[in-house]
Amino acid sequence: MDNYKDLIFDKSFVNGKWQHVGDSKIEIKNPVDLSVIVSVYDEGRDLINQAIDAAYTAFPLWKKKSAKERSVVLKRWFQLIHEYKEEIAIIMTLESGKPISESRGEVDYGAAYIEWFAEEAKRNYGDSIPGFTADKRIITIKEPIGVVGAITPWNFPLAMITRKIAPALAVGCTVVVRPSEETPLTALAISHLANMAGVPPGVINTVVGSNASEMGKELCESRKVSKISFTGSTRVGQILMEQCAPTLKKMSLELGGNAPFIVFDDADVMLAVKGVIAGKFRFGGQTCVCVNRILVQEGIYDVFVRELLEAVQKLQLGNGMDESVSVGPLINRKAIERMKNLLIDAERKGAYIATGGKAVEPQFFQPTVILNATPDMIFAKDEIFGPLAPVFKFKTEEEAIVMANDTIYGLASYFYTNDLNRSWRVRDQLEYGIVGINEGLISSEVVPFGGVKYSGQGREGSKYGLDSYVDIKYVCIGNV
Ligand code: ADP
Repeated sequence: MDNYKDLIFDKSFVNGKWQHVGDSKIEIKNPVDLSVIVSVYDEGRDLINQAIDAAYTAFPLWKKKSAKERSVVLKRWFQLIHEYKEEIAIIMTLESGKPISESRGEVDYGAAYIEWFAEEAKRNYGDSIPGFTADKRIITIKEPIGVVGAITPWNFPLAMITRKIAPALAVGCTVVVRPSEETPLTALAISHLANMAGVPPGVINTVVGSNASEMGKELCESRKVSKISFTGSTRVGQILMEQCAPTLKKMSLELGGNAPFIVFDDADVMLAVKGVIAGKFRFGGQTCVCVNRILVQEGIYDVFVRELLEAVQKLQLGNGMDESVSVGPLINRKAIERMKNLLIDAERKGAYIATGGKAVEPQFFQPTVILNATPDMIFAKDEIFGPLAPVFKFKTEEEAIVMANDTIYGLASYFYTNDLNRSWRVRDQLEYGIVGINEGLISSEVVPFGGVKYSGQGREGSKYGLDSYVDIKYVCIGNV
């Protein structure tokens, strides 16, 4: 049980070594009781720059390896993560509060990106194009773009990193990762395993620090960094894009969402309720594809709400290390205050809290269902990122589509129907990068994950996942 302690590190991992520059530390706290798990050296500009240099130096060597050689190293890393699955899951639950079964699921899910891209590495094909005159031969090759800066959030401490590192490494890029200061321990643990797997020094560098904006700025402004891949809020994505403009850096941005979950009159009620529970309350509602607005047609409204309340009241709030717990603590105090403010605003505008609604010390919030939700309430526009489930009522399909699209975001959307024609019609009109039909769980390494509108750009995972890390070089051989 205590083996996980061997995978807890308190320094950053740069150029194949555990390093620290300054002496100050960040206390990494368990959100369940706010106890300190470990204090990690708090790095900033200096070590980020050393990491950038290390990645820059390692790049030509890593790039030169054959795809198969890189693939073998990635596969070894994947296997090691599986070998230490339980230890990593425990570390993840301790630092994030995620229920342990979800943490185990994330280890599988996050590691799957490494396996997937280890295989894709060998299929990074170019083209042969008929020449535009008889004496020309034309080919394209896909080359790694260079050093990648990866800035990641706390809600998937492992998967958000492997989604970026795995395709980057597969094609020959090197990376500097700046994990969230809330959950750096999982990132450090998998960096250690990458080292054990034979990832050469400088290819993966993981730098932990509390000054996110300073570290982000260094990565964005450095001419040695060719690309920034970011997962987080739309606000920070916009800042990073601005900072990347002078060096014209390539960017992948996986930003906020405001997922609608539409339940039509002809839906299977129990399936829809199951979908909401999975899509809303996973990690206490703290994911970017979490259901934000439940839109229910009037004919099915009463029965859906009755079943939803019953299901939500069965959710167990508590310490994620307890196998029976389904909803853990929120990540920090700020999140608790946000839930409270969203509820004050909604109640003032006529909402009714049908279950839940209270904060529980030190850092929990009850799974909450809000009825009579209306478009003027803050959560109709903003991302909730917590266990509040507002239910809106609608009459017609057209009205549902207008409501669903009435947001700046366009990441995940869900709808439930048993009408075949409606399923095609509605799918076509939803302005989202991801549509789940009769399904609340939509993430996997085999699919292209990403959004439209203010939810970002680029796709992670699937056969498209390598595209973000390559440049296409076109070669013309003339006078043949
Ligand atoms: P979240 O609400 O999910 O924490 P953020 O966008 O605030 O979303 O954070 C996502 C990641 O971006 C975190 O690792 C955070 O520390 C980091 N971050 C926050 N502000 C900045 C910034 N100005 N520059 C670079 N990274 C930042």
